[in-house]
Amino acid sequence: MTERNTRRSFLKAIGATATVGALADTAAAYHTQDPYVDDFRPADSSNYTSASRGAEAIDWVVIHVGEGDYGGMVGWFQDPSADVSAHYAIRNSDGYASQMVHHEDKAWHAGGQNYNYYSIGIEHGGYTDQTQFTDALYKKSANIVSSLCDQYNIPKNHPSGVAPCDASTDGGIIGHHQVPESDCGPNNHTDPGSTWDWDYYMDLVGGTNNGGGGDGGTSYSWPTYSYGDQAEAVYSIQYLLEENGYPLDYHDGIYGTEVETTIEQFQSDRNITVDGIVGPETWNELYVVVWDAEDDPWWATYGAQHHLNYGQGYDIAVDGYYGPETRSAIEDFQTSAGLTVDGVVGHDTWQALMDI
Ligand SMILES: [Zn+2]
Repeated sequence: MTERNTRRSFLKAIGATATVGALADTAAAYHTQDPYVDDFRPADSSNYTSASRGAEAIDWVVIHVGEGDYGGMVGWFQDPSADVSAHYAIRNSDGYASQMVHHEDKAWHAGGQNYNYYSIGIEHGGYTDQTQFTDALYKKSANIVSSLCDQYNIPKNHPSGVAPCDASTDGGIIGHHQVPESDCGPNNHTDPGSTWDWDYYMDLVGGTNNGGGGDGGTSYSWPTYSYGDQAEAVYSIQYLLEENGYPLDYHDGIYGTEVETTIEQFQSDRNITVDGIVGPETWNELYVVVWDAEDDPWWATYGAQHHLNYGQGYDIAVDGYYGPETRSAIEDFQTSAGLTVDGVVGHDTWQALMDI
């Protein structure tokens, strides 16, 4: 019996009046496209772009952490007001995975340099730098990603640093934080963060990890500063406040009334807990990525230089300009701290600067 006869028999048996073609269309609209995924829960059609992408356009996989649980992510991508989506959402507790956007369509998860068009996005339930990811989640995600790589000829490689500005070159498996911004520099996302074990994950995918971040949980942590403290890190807090647009009269390394009230204003503006104390939640809002920008000087660059010079003993100019001397000091610090060496002071490097 041929395939078609089987389907006709099935239709007849269930008393369907639909044509074979209509059934095929319905199936195409709702079927999952990966052998490991558990179901298809379509994102709202206003949250992604219909397209007809094939292997020539799908070069990257972008790994995200959703800042919420699986149920929250699914609900959000199905909410017409979200304006975001991803191809997959995976639950941390047991690895249950839903496809939400078809591979051919362009999900909205990695802005900037056209990476949405050239990638497939995977959202994992949990919180960046906090969640301990389960074995079930790692395995399910790795199975899906490995088969995506096979299907679309995506390199099973996790590269280091910011991905190429032109998304149509290279390819690989990257964290959201590696997607270049529209100016080709780093973006301000940090996921999947320090608790994501890239070594283990890339082993499961059957690929290679050239991007570090393999220590999964043995990384640095943000120290806490509050009124009355005097420390090199308080200079960083003051310079980062300036970088964020909060002018101060004093840059003196002293956590006084001016720093406290300005931090309270900053916390209020960012909709985080208002307590006047700089702990992990505030640091994550406060730090600004320092890199080889074209529009320096930056207060953030000045702050990183100040810390490298006075806090870590690097004899470099503190002038807000990112040049070869600054890059070399950052890379040397990253080497000694066991971090990815890329000359970019992002989340992990700021954290290590403050923690060491
Ligand atoms: Zn993300």
